[in-house]
Amino acid sequence: MNNDTIAAIGTAMTHSGIGIVRISGSEAIGIADRIFRAKKSGKKLADVPTHTLHYGHIVNRDQIIDEVLVSVMRGPHSYTAEDVVEINCHGGILVMKKILDTVMEYGARPAEAGEFTKRAFLNGRMDLSQAEAVIDIINSQNEFALKSAVKQLSGSVSDKIKEIRKRLIYEIAYIESALDDPEHYPMENYGEELAEKIEPLLQEIRKLTDHADDGRMLKEGIKTVILGKPNAGKSSLLNLMVGSERAIVTDIEGTTRDTLEEHILLDGISLNIVDTAGIRETADLVEQIGVERAKEQAAEADLVLYVIDATKPLDENDKEIIQCIADKKAIVLFNKCDLDTLLDEQEIRQMLPEQTVVVFSAKDRTGFEILKDRIREMFYAEELKFNDEIYLTSARHKAALDSAYRSLQLVMDSIAAGMPEDFFTIDMMSAYEQLGYITGESVEDDLVNEIFSKFCMGK
Ligand code: GDP
Repeated sequence: MNNDTIAAIGTAMTHSGIGIVRISGSEAIGIADRIFRAKKSGKKLADVPTHTLHYGHIVNRDQIIDEVLVSVMRGPHSYTAEDVVEINCHGGILVMKKILDTVMEYGARPAEAGEFTKRAFLNGRMDLSQAEAVIDIINSQNEFALKSAVKQLSGSVSDKIKEIRKRLIYEIAYIESALDDPEHYPMENYGEELAEKIEPLLQEIRKLTDHADDGRMLKEGIKTVILGKPNAGKSSLLNLMVGSERAIVTDIEGTTRDTLEEHILLDGISLNIVDTAGIRETADLVEQIGVERAKEQAAEADLVLYVIDATKPLDENDKEIIQCIADKKAIVLFNKCDLDTLLDEQEIRQMLPEQTVVVFSAKDRTGFEILKDRIREMFYAEELKFNDEIYLTSARHKAALDSAYRSLQLVMDSIAAGMPEDFFTIDMMSAYEQLGYITGESVEDDLVNEIFSKFCMGK
């Protein structure tokens, strides 16, 4: 294992009240002792109890750099499971840098990105999915993302995966043992028994992956596309949602420019408004790049907001797009209801019986609260219902689970086809391995330990 001592500035590289220089590794305390002068007592950090805080100065060749508080956390009860020293200094860029330079001069090397957490993983203090959760916590942009990352850090995903793996390895070990020692491990009707055990595992995996899209959307934002003809009010809607006048709204058709993808937080709902061209480009999406493209955009989106100018009649393009959003998560905004409307909203409701039609005005905000409520119902109703469920928010985890699911289905196929037992283990092993990628556990060691602890006692 890489046992050198690493150091980095743990806080943001901006001027702030406090800065933290973090050191981890076998030499952490030794290095700190060489550059720290405790006020009054003159004590050495090597002698202090773990998890204590010490007041003094950081010095480099008798030159005082800063007045600091130093915390000492001995491994394994530290973030990295190694000896860790954190120097709380003043949060100026220069002073933090000088302290870091001093720490390095006395023997530490600069940590790579994520290296403290990597060490925590390598030292077994957290598994891979927990280590990933640390990054997710830092990157969280909304309540949901934060909540699910904290849950993941506390082991929600790992525990579930470990439990499934445990049940799998038990059966794998049983088959292996039975093949070695058929006398002690009866295999009659084993196929049926195994199928009864695999079925619930398939269901559990399915439940996790079924929610993965919700998890991704809630974490990264709901991929939203605003569609509609020129002048329908798309920019006005976006402005209303963004809460600023950033998009240029104009009376002249086709003068809204500056394409962008907007990430907005609408009462806690994260929306990623994808560049829909129609909003921002000189020519309208529907007219310039065609209905086909609009359909593609709609197909890729989690949510379509279709803006209709209710003061104008529907044309063929409108009708075609309305058809293509019929089975999407879509909301139709019957816009400009503050003016004399020409369209009959019932007509649209009839065309889209499954969809929500909101009588709307981007100008005076009519329907805005209803719009937000509808979005929340569409995407968050599940969350409330499954409040205690685990939401997968990582594409990596989802891919591993999908692949484990396929392998277990192959096991079911083999059982149904009456294949010999050793056929089952190949696919069960592959499911086990796939799940292990999520937690980062090594396959071989686990298998060995499990077989010996469960089945080979006294033999
Ligand atoms: P876009 O081309 O679809 O992005 O449409 P805009 O948002 O640029 O709006 C076109 C014109 O319609 C602008 O003059 C807006 O002020 C106006 N408009 C948009 N929504 C409403 C509304 O709800 N009521 C009224 N009266 N005018 C609106």
